[in-house]
Amino acid sequence: MYQLRGHHIFCMVGYQGAGYSAEYAANMTAVHTKLQQNPQKLVQIISGPDMLCAKFPCDQENHCEERRIYERDAAILAFLGLHVGQIVTWETIEQRLKIYAKPDSIQKLCGDCTWRKFGYCEHGLNHVLDGHGLQGVKAPLP
Ligand code: SF4
Repeated sequence: MYQLRGHHIFCMVGYQGAGYSAEYAANMTAVHTKLQQNPQKLVQIISGPDMLCAKFPCDQENHCEERRIYERDAAILAFLGLHVGQIVTWETIEQRLKIYAKPDSIQKLCGDCTWRKFGYCEHGLNHVLDGHGLQGVKAPLP
C-alpha cells in the first residue's frame, strides 16, 4: 500500500517527470507508473511527510514540515472529501477529482508552489478530468 499526504494527490496527477533531484524524480516516477498501470492500488492518506517526501534531497531547503504545506494538504483533502487515515484505491481518488475538481483547482489550492507556473499540474488534472487517467511521464529528469 502506498502512503500519500493530501497535496501529493495533486502532485501525482500533475507529474511529468521533473522533480527536486534525480533520486526524487525516480521515486516519483516509480509510484506514478504503478498507479497509472494499476488504479486499484491502495493508497493510505497520511499527515505529514510521506513516501515522496522521503526522497527529498538533503542538500536543498526542506519544506515538508512547514505549516503552509500541512495547510495545503488539509485544503486539498477537504476539497476532495477525503481524510487522514482513509485507505482508498487510486481509482477512487480519480473519481473524487472528476466530481470535485475543475481545471483551475491547481491555481486555487496550490498556493505559492514553485512548480505551479510550469503548467504541468493543470495539464495533468485536465487529463484526469477528461477521463484519461494519469498523464504519461514526459519531462527529462533534472
Ligand atoms: S502546483 Fe505544486 S503542489 Fe500543486 S500539484 Fe503542482 S507540484 Fe503539486
